[in-house]
Parts: sequence; C-alpha cells; structure tokens
Amino acid sequence: MSGEPYAALSKAQLFARLAEGLAGGVTVITPNQRLAQSLEREFDAAQAAQGRSAWESADILSYSAFVQRCYEDALYSELASALPILLTPAQEQSLWEDAIRASKLAETLLSASSAATQCREAWQLAHAGCLMPRLKAAAANEDAKAFLDWAARYERACARSSRKSGYIDAARLPDAVIPLLAHQALTKPKTLVRYGFDIMTAQQRALLDALEAVGIEVLATGPAGDAGRCSRIAFTAERDEMLASATWARARLEANPQAHIGVVVPGLAQARSTVKRIFASIMQPDHSLPGVSKQTLPFNISIGISLNQYPLVHDALLALQLAGREIEFNRASRLLRSPFFAGSEAEMTARARLDAVLRARAGTTLTLEALLRLMDMRGAPRCPVLAERLSQLAEFRKTNLFGAKRPSEWAKAISAALGLLGFLDKGRGLDSTEYQTLKKWHEVVAGFAALDAVAGRMGYADACRRLARVTADTLFQPEAADVPVQILGVLESAGLEFDHLWVMGLTDDAWPIPVRPNPFIPIKLQREAGVPQADAAGSIELDRRITAGWLAAAPEVVFSHPLREGDRELSASPLIAAVPGAMFEDFGIPVYDKLRDAIHRARREERIADDKAPELARLGADAGPHSGGTGIFRDQAACPFRAFAAHRLGTEALETPQPGLNARDRGTLLHSVLAAVWTALGGKAALDAISTDDLATLLAHCADEAIGRLRRWKPEALQGRFAERERSRLAALARDWLEFEKQRPVFEVAAVEEKRVVQFGGVAVNAKLDRMDKLGAGGHVILDYKTGEASVTAWLGTRPDEPQLPLYAIGSEKNIAAVAFARVKTGELEFKGIARDKDLLPGVKTIGDQRSALAKGYGSWENLVEGWRRELAALGQGFASGDARVAPKHGDDTCQFCGMQPLCRINERSDE
Ligand code: SF4
Repeated sequence: MSGEPYAALSKAQLFARLAEGLAGGVTVITPNQRLAQSLEREFDAAQAAQGRSAWESADILSYSAFVQRCYEDALYSELASALPILLTPAQEQSLWEDAIRASKLAETLLSASSAATQCREAWQLAHAGCLMPRLKAAAANEDAKAFLDWAARYERACARSSRKSGYIDAARLPDAVIPLLAHQALTKPKTLVRYGFDIMTAQQRALLDALEAVGIEVLATGPAGDAGRCSRIAFTAERDEMLASATWARARLEANPQAHIGVVVPGLAQARSTVKRIFASIMQPDHSLPGVSKQTLPFNISIGISLNQYPLVHDALLALQLAGREIEFNRASRLLRSPFFAGSEAEMTARARLDAVLRARAGTTLTLEALLRLMDMRGAPRCPVLAERLSQLAEFRKTNLFGAKRPSEWAKAISAALGLLGFLDKGRGLDSTEYQTLKKWHEVVAGFAALDAVAGRMGYADACRRLARVTADTLFQPEAADVPVQILGVLESAGLEFDHLWVMGLTDDAWPIPVRPNPFIPIKLQREAGVPQADAAGSIELDRRITAGWLAAAPEVVFSHPLREGDRELSASPLIAAVPGAMFEDFGIPVYDKLRDAIHRARREERIADDKAPELARLGADAGPHSGGTGIFRDQAACPFRAFAAHRLGTEALETPQPGLNARDRGTLLHSVLAAVWTALGGKAALDAISTDDLATLLAHCADEAIGRLRRWKPEALQGRFAERERSRLAALARDWLEFEKQRPVFEVAAVEEKRVVQFGGVAVNAKLDRMDKLGAGGHVILDYKTGEASVTAWLGTRPDEPQLPLYAIGSEKNIAAVAFARVKTGELEFKGIARDKDLLPGVKTIGDQRSALAKGYGSWENLVEGWRRELAALGQGFASGDARVAPKHGDDTCQFCGMQPLCRINERSDE
C-alpha cells in the first residue's frame, strides 16, 4: 500500500499554485479532515503574511470528502437514476447485523452487533486493498468463510433496495465513482495534489490512475519541514511522562502564546480521560472550581468519546429503558436524579430523598409501574412533577410502545416518550457542550428513522438496543475554540506541523505498533496487499516513515517513553534509538503548582478539636423520649460520633438494593411470626397442648400476616413463588424453635413487643423488648431474638456492644432473673444469656459460671446489674453532653458496616 509514483512539487510551489485561485484548478486531498483544515489555515496565514487582504479559498479536502463530492456531483446530474444510494453508517451497521443474525453462525456469537462492527472494518480493508475477488478464491479458515457468508448476505441486502441500482457504502464508493470520472457532470480539477499521505491503498491508486486517464494531472507533496532539535527522554512511569509533557506544553505556551504545540499519545482512545485530567491539572489547575468556564482549557484532544457517554444522551437512553420492560435499580436511581427532565431543579432535594427511600424498599430491578407504586407509598417523599410525568409515560407506553413498528415510527414514539418526561423542557439552560450534544442526539434519532430503508419492523426493545448501539458507535467531540495545544493520536498527527512537538509512549513494545492482522481476511492476502498492520515488516516500514515525519514536523521535537509498567520493565523503541538522550531537568522547565499544592502552600493551619456537640438539655430535647430508641445507646457505645451523626444529625447511610430479602428483613419476619404465635399461645401450657395440625395452621397464618406486613413496606421483594418459599421457611423455622422451647420448665409469656420509656444519664428513649416470660420458678426473663451471631460478652465491660437487654432489664419494674438471646437460626437453636440462678433457661449460666474473664470479673448478678447501670448512665450522659468523638470501639471492625465514613472521615484520620 506504499510507494509514491506521482511527480512531486514542493509545498511552496503548491501554495503558489493554490494562490492562483479557481483559475489555477488545483485541488488538494489529505488523508484526514484535520490535516485538510490545518493546511487550509497554513495557506491562509501564508497569504496574509504576503500582505494580501483577500484571496480565493484553497480547495483542500480529505480523500473521502473528495470521493463523496464526486459522487454527489453525479447524484445531482442525469446520472442520478443509475446511481446506488449511499448508506449512512447506521444503515450499514443495521444491514450487517441483519446479515449476521440471519446466518446459522449467529447462535454461536456473543454479540451480533460487535461482529457487525468487525465485519465493517474487514469490508473496508478488503475494498481498500481490492481484495474481494481474491478473498472469495482464497478463503481458508472458518473466520474468513463466515465473513464471506455474511458479506454475500450483506451484498444481497444492498441489492434488494426499492431502487434498481441498490445501495452502496463508503468502502465501495471510490469503485462506484471511477466509471463516472469521464462524465462532464463531475467537477474535476486540472491538477490533484496528494498531501501528507503515508499510505496509498490499491483502491486509492485505482482512483488516481483513473483521474490521470481522464487528463487530470496528479502530483504529490507533504510537509516541508527539516529535522529540528530532537531529544529522547526516559521517565520512570507513564504518569510521570504525561505530567512532564503537560508541564513542558505549559512552559512553551507561556514563552510564546502564539506557538502551535502538538502532543502525540499512542493509544489515546484508552488514555483519553487520564490525559485530559493531567493536562487540565497542569495547564489550568483551577479548571474544576465552580464558576470557571469549561471552555477555557488551552488544549484540545483529537479523539471524541462515544455519544452515549455524554450525560444528556446517557440519561435519555435510561428513560427509554425505564419505558421498556425493566431497568436495574442503579440506573433508575440515576434517572431519578437526572437534571435533564421536567421538574428536576424544583424537585432536586425531594428526588434525592426519594432515591434514598427507594434504596431500602426496591428490588434490584424496577418496572415503570413498580416505580410509580413505590413513589406512592406512605413515607416516600412526594415529587408531584415526576409522578405526573411518569404516569403519563406509563399511559403512553400502553398504546404506543408495544408491537412491531418501522424505525421511523419508533423514532417518533421515542421522541414523544422523552417529550412526556419533559426531556430538556424549558427551565434549565444548556451550556455549549450540552447544546451541541442535544443537536447530535437529534441527528442520531433522525438517522435512526432513516433505517426504514434497510430494516423492517421491530419491537421496542430492539429499537432501543439499535439506537443505543448507534450512540455507542458515534464518536462525538463538541466544537471548541481554536486552542494552541493539540493532543493527538498517531494517525491524526500525520502531516501536521508545529512549533513544538512531544511524542510520548514510544516503548519497544508499543512502537512500532504490534502486528494486528484482521481476523476475517487471510494474512497472506493482507501482506500481499501491503496492509501495514498485517505483518512486522509492513508495520516497521510505516512506523519508520511516521517517525521520520515527526522528526521533521517541528523545530523542537521530544520523544519519550516510560521505563516501567507495573512489574514490566520497558525500554525505548528501536525506531528512536538514534535520537540523542536527554534529561527532562535539563530543559529548565519551571515547576508548576497543582491546585492542591497551591492551596496547601497557601494554608494557614489552625487545629481545632471539634468533638463536642451542643448539650441535649440546651436544645430542649430532654422534654420527652428521644427518637432513635435504644439504638442511641448502642451507637454511643460503638462510637460517639456515630451516635451523634445518626441521632442528632439524622444521617443514614444509603442502602443498595439486593435481590430478595436482606438479613434485616428476614429478622423482622421472624420476630413478627414469633410475636404473633406467642400472643396466641400465651405460654408453655398452651404450647404443650396444641395439636400438630393446629400449630401448623397457626404458624401458616402468622407467617402470612408477617409477609403481608413486610410487603406493605417492600412490595417488590416478596412476590409469587418467592413469597411462597419464604412462608414455608418461616413456618418451619418457627416450628423448630417452638419444639426447642418445649424443653423448658413451665413459663408464661408476660409481654410481647412491649414498649416502654427508659431513661439513663439524662437520655430517655422508647424501648421495645421482644419478649418477657414469667418463670414457674419465680422471676422474669427477658428475651431478644437473634437470627445471626450473639454473644453475652456484648453486654459486658465498658461501652457494651449490645446494651439493649441490660436497658430493658434495669428499666423493668419486674424481678428480672435472667436475660438471654434466643438464637433462632436453622440448625443452631439455643439460648445464650446470663441468669441469676442455675437452670432457669436451657444452656443459660449464672455470671459465676460464665467462662470469660470479663464475666467472672463481676462476681455476682447484683454486681452485674450495678455495672450495667453505671455503663448505661455513662453512655446516656455522653450522648446528652454532646460527646461526638470519632472513637470506634473496635477500630476497623466497628467501622466496617457503619457507612458514616464520608462524614467522620476516619480514613483520612488514620493517615494522621
Ligand atoms: S465509620 Fe467508624 S469512626 Fe466513623 S462514625 Fe462509624 S464507627 Fe465511628
């Protein structure tokens, strides 16, 4: 694909001929649009430098634009009826996808869309190299055979158009244009100049030969620069290399604000976000501060990102997904908080609160109807505009988003659905990027409607999937002002000239670019056609030429490479080995502060110990029970800041929905069942007397009631067969527990879920005990059901981990003889507790019989009760006095499931 068979002219001669204007009849073609624009600017600057005030524009355009212009000339002439219609990229993709799906191999593919994208690349390559006829004869491996099968289907689909001449794509357009070149309808230059091409494909050669055959002079030229001052620098890691190149670019720009600076990054598509962040932090450290214009960054990155990564398009696609069958909760959550829909500003806070509530109630996926039901539930923050818009969408969906439709009908329905949600309704002004993104979105939707020509009717899900695919395939870069620093990929840098150029990442394994032949075309054919990436020799040859082009592209050129990537050691590419090595320090580049460093340097540090909240009494909170229940004492024991954040500030960690029920839900269900059963039975005598069948009926009824109650709170979590299984599980577990309780001596259930106010250390709270039994032997026992782990040491020592039972025990006016956890877990049924006397409850020992040293330290039941009283008073006093120290009792173990880290910033403290 290489070689330069055309007569050369110098760049100065080219500009002289272009200066003759239309009369000169010169057209220049370049490998890409970027180079065409750059050359045009350079030509204009040269004219202005010669003192001209007006001149005719030079006819400079990319090769593909030139081919398309020839085609369009023919399209607006009497040749039109015989011309095939040019497919849009979306139409091409759709036809390839359909061709692949219709083949037997489709079932073996993970994604027909991805295969279609690869086929389009192979199709492009095969036509550029004029390989199709030979490919049909040479198909050897399975991939090549599959490609030929899909290509034949694709070609047949292109020929099946309502137009006799069928469809054509960009890959075949030069072949279609060649026979037309002699026709007078095509405006042809007298001279065509190839500028800056590193590669010439067989197809390009055929077109240029055809142009010569109709009398057009074809010449070639390229950048005029001589090799400048060039250095090679090694850096420890890629990040150091990027930081240095950004610092260098800033220094060069400050030295000469008119300078044109280029930075070439191989693999720019993957590194784009890192490059952007580093260059922004060095070149304009305050760019992310509120109020700083987003348009003022002095650099431009040549590669755009997929349209679906722009928030506006991303959220539009989320809305369309919600209007379909179902959507994952985290996506619905983002949609709720999106700023692009009606009422988003007015309801911003309410929608964020709604999101927090839904996290506790919703399942991992949501339907539109389920979302509306959840929004309507008691306790859900009201968002009337959102509710109204979603209701309208739900109605619209019933009649308009079902069945099979043509793409243009779906495009209309999709726009209408987004309109109902008030997508970019009046109210919120768009910034320039958003405005351009919206325009592009409208173009993409219009392009989707144009799929009518090549695709049949489809369902809503298929339409949304195809539309999403088009947005993913559409690379988009909002237009920005002309800026002095251009960050480019390797191909975009071809032919460009600068005042200063830095090329990074030139390691031995990255440059020359590793061989990467197309899997659908036999390597032998690719090699014969001179496809550079097909073999090592071709790749080295091309990359050597590109390297030579960089060396001549600026008076100052820097090549750089990292020495390490993770554990791998790297060295300089052999293609730059001859360039003299240098140290970055020798460049005399100033050290620029990053914003963080500047702020740090400017700080006037003053340390204030801030671990004290206002006293409760001063807030008037001592008037009645404090909301938060016994959790206040538990949290105060675990970490005073946690108690302060949760019960004084009202902070809650956000939950993440999970499939089915979480451990807390299961615990709630079991508590409800056992509470209902013991309310019905009343004690051991009734338990012993009830028949097996009656007990089963009672348990089934109690399980139904419990599930019904939970369903009112979490309607999506307990549906259908899942609810049935949960009902059986609950009844079986409760039955096993009742069997276990039959071993106990006689008792009566004195209280179930009884609420009372308890007060310690000046803090009064509402406490609810699970159960209190009156023992036949005298005295009462307080029980707390546990479905997870439980240990009596959680009641002992300072800052007891589980102070609830001690709270009930001391707060009760009854004669408490024991406190115990009732562990109700399949296969692990037991009481764990402490009793005043032996044999009050199975397995529950006196304080003196406990094994732990902590327990033995109390010596007697009375001492234990006195110890509890002291600790509870201390915890209450701590909370009431405003003790808000960040002091997790068990360090990381306490913090692990806390969720307050963003507020207490414990992780930053651990660095101190
Ligand atoms: S994360 Fe740890 S330190 Fe922070 S509030 Fe929770 S328990 Fe306390």
